[in-house]
Amino acid sequence: MPKKHSLDALEQTLRQASAAREGFLGADERSLATILQADDEAIRRRGLTHAYIAQHLLALRQAGWEGLGEPVSVPPHFEVCVDAARGTLPCPFGDQGSFAKVNTTVHNLASGKEITFTDLNIHLIASHGFYEGHGAQFRLDPEQLMDTLEMGEI
Ligand SMILES: [Zn+2]
Repeated sequence: MPKKHSLDALEQTLRQASAAREGFLGADERSLATILQADDEAIRRRGLTHAYIAQHLLALRQAGWEGLGEPVSVPPHFEVCVDAARGTLPCPFGDQGSFAKVNTTVHNLASGKEITFTDLNIHLIASHGFYEGHGAQFRLDPEQLMDTLEMGEI
């Protein structure tokens, strides 16, 4: 966990919208520390880790990428569609490098549930355990994510 003052500065950065996208915390009034902790607990309740979730999302993204815009079937009953836009986004936590604007949509054909995540989401989960705030455009709710992808112990 970063020091308190740097966490506050980071929270400010995450709340701000940039030219490239809306803020990462949406309408969430909870502190960044509280948001991180709540999502961490949700993942751990199912016996999972952020690294495992990120790896799973990346595997789906790679499978979908092969379809070049056409839906790809992933067993047992998922359909994955990858859609790439121009441009890249930097990591708001200040890491080096930037992330292509690639959206992956996974449709669970058995339950009808669907989620969409970006390459930046995958990085934010893998490196920062961050799923964005409530109301953020690309918030990936951990429960919804795990339910849709049928991950972890229920
Ligand atoms: Zn980062």
